Amino acid sequence: MAFLGSSEIVDLALKILSKYPLCDYCLGRHFASIGYGISNKERGRTLKTMLFMEAHRLARDNLEEGVRRLRMLSTCGYNPASKFLEKMGYNKPESKPCYICGDALNPKRFIEISSKIAEQLKEYEFRDFLVGAKVPVEVREREDAIYSEYMITTGEDIKEDITREIGLLIQKELGRDIEYKTPEIVILVDIFSEVFEIQVNPLFIYGRYRKLRKDIPQTPWLCRECWGRGCIKCNYSGREYPESISELIGGPAVEYFEAVDFKFHGAGREDVDAVVLGSGRPFVLELKHPRKRFLELKILEEKINREAAGKIEVQDLRYSSRRELRILKTSSPLVSKTYEATVEFENEVDEENLRKITTDMNNIVVEQWTPTRVLKRRADKLRRKKLYYVEAEKIGPKIVKFRIKAQGGLYVKELIDGDNGRTRPNVMELLGNKPIMIQLSVLDVENIEEN
Ligand SMILES: [Zn+2]
Ligand SMILES: [Zn+2]
Repeated sequence: MAFLGSSEIVDLALKILSKYPLCDYCLGRHFASIGYGISNKERGRTLKTMLFMEAHRLARDNLEEGVRRLRMLSTCGYNPASKFLEKMGYNKPESKPCYICGDALNPKRFIEISSKIAEQLKEYEFRDFLVGAKVPVEVREREDAIYSEYMITTGEDIKEDITREIGLLIQKELGRDIEYKTPEIVILVDIFSEVFEIQVNPLFIYGRYRKLRKDIPQTPWLCRECWGRGCIKCNYSGREYPESISELIGGPAVEYFEAVDFKFHGAGREDVDAVVLGSGRPFVLELKHPRKRFLELKILEEKINREAAGKIEVQDLRYSSRRELRILKTSSPLVSKTYEATVEFENEVDEENLRKITTDMNNIVVEQWTPTRVLKRRADKLRRKKLYYVEAEKIGPKIVKFRIKAQGGLYVKELIDGDNGRTRPNVMELLGNKPIMIQLSVLDVENIEEN
């Protein structure tokens, strides 16, 4: 069907209504792409009015056909036709529910459910939202069947009517915007059973943490004996370490934003016994189902730093996005990290060999099999990571302070002790001296930039 003239539209509406009683929305929706800035309800109602005018005129020449059409219009809830029939002395026929939607689409129901939704939404801080609709399969099948029976190419999905009507009502009541790409809140409406569900999209916060003390893992670490059930060894806590960085940051944030839960995403992670100094390690905190969205992050920063005093510190908190989280996750193997390692060796350190290390370990690729200490948790595979430099300063006969800059993901402890030759080259082999104690701190994690 290329072009529909107005009389063709009215003829088509007549054919459809003669077979299927339809409400204003469902009739108008067949012609949704024709005419701009009007609702399907207006379209449907207008078509019925035009049919009514024709029926009225027809009733003078061809009473039988005129009355048939008036009864048809009356059946699908067009009141002027019912009144006119009564005036002419006919009984008005019983009106039938809409063949497609069963009259679920009606202004009264839209207003009722919208005001219930708006009432619940008042508990949340948000700028924008989106309405989605759940439509029973059989409703969609009936609609599709009519569209194909009459070769309708100007129609739209019944979902559009539901989301448009409810979206506009909520927008009017609360004064918030409708946002299609990244709405803060999504409302899923089932107008057929009159239920709805509010989905609050997560809030993302970017920041950097410094870890001031050893023995705090980044994420909760379950007890190795009981795997969280609780046993004598862990004093029935189920944990290897009582605290984690993610909880020290996420806990206060959940409270502050009245969220339900959180997920912590670090740009890589350090060993549990390493500290993180310098400008700290970037992270993105994802807050689930937050009631608040526009709070002062400086206050959260102070709250976290106060509650975790002496353990960790956060800084540079700012609002972030899912997009930035994706960048953080994919770029983390690419960022470089600077470590400081204080190492005590078995024997006195040879300064000549030490100098050789700083020249030999300059801008090279280190080959590293999965460290023995993590083999239980990770697959054994060969990694090749860039080592930018190793600086060394002898601070005692057997003690050296190293400064090491490497690509993210390089295991620094193994770079020093060689892990039985599984990491090559390594400090132990080049120095010909065995490390007996290694103390590691992360000095810097190269910034990720939003672009
Ligand atoms: Zn309908
Ligand atoms: Zn345990």
